[in-house]
Amino acid sequence: MRCLLFCFCLISFMACQPENSFVAEETTDFDDVDNGLQSYFNSFENEARMRGQEIDLSEYNLTASIEEIHEDGVAGTCSFGSNIPNTIVIDRQFWINSSPNRREMVVFHELGHCVLGQGHRDDQNQNGICLSIMNSGLAGCSVAYNSQNKDYYLDELFGAD
Ligand SMILES: [Zn+2]
Repeated sequence: MRCLLFCFCLISFMACQPENSFVAEETTDFDDVDNGLQSYFNSFENEARMRGQEIDLSEYNLTASIEEIHEDGVAGTCSFGSNIPNTIVIDRQFWINSSPNRREMVVFHELGHCVLGQGHRDDQNQNGICLSIMNSGLAGCSVAYNSQNKDYYLDELFGAD
């Protein structure tokens, strides 16, 4: 039985400036999740909890890695199906060149697919700003996900069903 849904998430590489901020290591260990991604997985659980959703990512049979994705402009992928583990891959080049906020946006986007079961939402405002971090990257809108607007986007992510 072949049931594999595959989502390529296209995120523009434009205007990403690495920041020299230190992300504290978290203690929770997820099996089969790259060390670099663990703290982002913890943040996802925490942000969900603050919005009334109890999510234990260790229950989702997730495999997550940082490796080279050969397609241009693809920052992350999520594949899932009935007979395979939910698999997230984050592009290594994107990871190296991105700030913690930008990394978080892409990890949360992929978890939005693999864990929250969400598709893409390409709504945008009149200034061309995407109204969801679940945008496909193909709609021509952009997101500058940062500490000022993060709450809006996370409310949108965890409030949608
Ligand atoms: Zn996507």
